[in-house]
Amino acid sequence: MSVDSNGINSRTHALNAAIHPPTVKVERPNGDNAPVSDFFGCNTFGLAQMREKLPKDAYHSLLKTLDHGKKLPKETAEAIASAVKEWSVAKGVTHFCHWFQPMTGLTAEKHDAFITIQSSHHSELRVIERFTGSQLIQGEPDASSFPSGGTRSTFEARGYTTWDPSSPLFIIEDESGKTLCIPTVFFGYHGQALDCKTPLLRSVEVLNTNACEFLKLIGDVDVKHVAATLGAEQEYFLIDKNFVALRPDLIMTGRSLLGSSSPRGQQLEDHYFGSIPTRVKNYMQEVEYELFKLGIPAKTRHNEVAPGQYELAPIFEDVNIAADHNTLSMEVLKRVALKHNFVCLLHEKPFAGINGSGKHNNWSLSNDKGENLLEPGTTPHQNLRFLAVLSVVVKAVYDNSAILRAAIAAPGNDHRLGANEAPPAIISVFLGSMLEKICNDIEEGKSAKATEQQIIDLGVGKIPNISKDYTDRNRTSPFAFTGNKFEFRAVGSSAIVSIPMTYLNAAVAYTFQHAATVLKDIMKTKPNRDEAIMEMTRMFLKESKTVRFDGNGYSQEWRDEAARRGLPILKSTADALEVYRDKKLTAFLSETRVLSTEEVMSRYHISVERYVKTIDIEIMTLLEMTQTLVIPAVEKQLTALATTQSTMSSSTLKKHHMSRSQKLETTFEAILSLHDELTRLSDTTANIHDESARMKKLAAEVQPLSVRLREACDQAERLVADELWPLPKYREMLFATSLC
Ligand code: ADP
Ligand code: MG
Repeated sequence: MSVDSNGINSRTHALNAAIHPPTVKVERPNGDNAPVSDFFGCNTFGLAQMREKLPKDAYHSLLKTLDHGKKLPKETAEAIASAVKEWSVAKGVTHFCHWFQPMTGLTAEKHDAFITIQSSHHSELRVIERFTGSQLIQGEPDASSFPSGGTRSTFEARGYTTWDPSSPLFIIEDESGKTLCIPTVFFGYHGQALDCKTPLLRSVEVLNTNACEFLKLIGDVDVKHVAATLGAEQEYFLIDKNFVALRPDLIMTGRSLLGSSSPRGQQLEDHYFGSIPTRVKNYMQEVEYELFKLGIPAKTRHNEVAPGQYELAPIFEDVNIAADHNTLSMEVLKRVALKHNFVCLLHEKPFAGINGSGKHNNWSLSNDKGENLLEPGTTPHQNLRFLAVLSVVVKAVYDNSAILRAAIAAPGNDHRLGANEAPPAIISVFLGSMLEKICNDIEEGKSAKATEQQIIDLGVGKIPNISKDYTDRNRTSPFAFTGNKFEFRAVGSSAIVSIPMTYLNAAVAYTFQHAATVLKDIMKTKPNRDEAIMEMTRMFLKESKTVRFDGNGYSQEWRDEAARRGLPILKSTADALEVYRDKKLTAFLSETRVLSTEEVMSRYHISVERYVKTIDIEIMTLLEMTQTLVIPAVEKQLTALATTQSTMSSSTLKKHHMSRSQKLETTFEAILSLHDELTRLSDTTANIHDESARMKKLAAEVQPLSVRLREACDQAERLVADELWPLPKYREMLFATSLC
């Protein structure tokens, strides 16, 4: 560890800097007293701005495109491009980019300048601002460096980006300037999806079609549109930048691969909803301003369970917009953090022994009247619809639970799922005691001849009152009903939400179609429509009953019970990803045309590759940290112990002292031998060419061995003198912020 001329080591420097952070002045957009409505969305160009700025016919032509999925006419594109250019240039924007979500789990941008050099007939060069309709609509970034999972051969490495007009354009501003971002989809030469947005848009469309057909059948004859809504609550950690700079693991992998737990973690539960340190509040304020300017409706902010952990919750929006907004929020959280001398960690498990971070995906369905289909209503019909839709969703989750598990599989989430802090890796549905009772009654045929009156008798009519003060919560459930929406709680904090949302939408869309077929069949013999709907609801609830679970999802009893019920138990990413290879399980994706079989397989290959690369990086970082940081520190301590020993004359003292040395020597031996063993094992694993076999070996052998090496190193941390330990400790990283 480096020591300065005053004998102060770099870790102490980092600590001093962290408790005396520089003050960052956060300026409210539009001045101190400006109301939020003054600047909300000021950096976006969406429908509202188009209505204002576009010629009438261009605006109507755009609406037609949006409503009927028609191709945007060239003149309209030109008119929009021109309005967009004028607006952007007036705001000081110099560049534009097609913003897309490749399958790498990040976003990508390809920047172009607005300016074009023109030479006039006197050969004098002129700079003009130029932005055309075709630049707005289509781009052709070099796709060869983005993963395609084998869906594209090199000779057709071209990829195309196309504007998604349903998502607003936005301006990203930072120290380096302002860029107009155009949200786009990204696809290959044959139209195959190379990103996360294309399948999401397809799933939204098929869900709309199938849900409308079903709703018409149950009596909502005038329904025009059904949309999925999403509110994604985002958890994150804030760690002072000075500490991160000294931690190769946080820099390389986003999580601490070493580190002994501090005596105080979260057991006092004093962080949750506790007061937010001023420094953090200041940061959150700036994050909120940035999000507001981007038209992102950030709503709540509070501390989370673990020290150093916080949450951002937006108000829900259409799933496509919400997904873009979540991705953007993650970028804003990270960018603003650096300005405040923090690093924002979005990893699912940055610190062992305390809670990790998730991203609760609150999901529901709404129709064009703005009614929430998962909200028990005020009329018997609305309640009947509520129960029918509920049964469709529960059955969709039951039928496709393995895919939903695969959708949230990621190496980071493996540290969190089922670790007594997050839902288990078994997908189950929690409905709450009241609704559970109603469902049980329906199954038992207590409403066999349900008429509207009987539904009321059954208590269903009273659901609205119950849902209002719905306090029945089950934090251990991965998919919980929370009064008027489902909360998919097993999604990891670093996830791209489009992925789980695509599978959920597709599963529900597929089940709506099935429900319509079943209902038509029942209606042949049961002319009373309400009775037929109840019959279908009963069938679906019965068929999916085993996915419903009200108890403690963290318990061993549930794992045993789930196994008895035959629910898929896919403990790790390595198990879960294999689901993609099961044609029967993924058939609903190709049948709904959300993903072709080829596209599903490309996602499998990319996920496996990402898993392997992530673990490889973690192992290499761990080995290097052990070699270059831990081992030298232990050696220094051993030398110091030996020196002291040689100066001792009392034999009792020597004996006690010897036992200290021996303890450290034993730990040192473990570190050295485990380091060698892990090096050998990771070398042999690297030579396995079959990607699936390699992933499985990493999960089954390499990972567990790395945990043993970590334990030995953490033991050393507890034995080595504080001043010799080079890595910022958990107590410093997690609690320093509360000292200032
Ligand atoms: P709670 O804290 O009780 O779960 P909140 O009102 O705080 O409820 O909502 C949590 C998240 O769920 C928020 O992001 C919110 O916008 C979102 N949400 C609420 N209603 C819906 C809905 N109909 N569809 C999708 N998300 C919703
Ligand atoms: Mg929540």
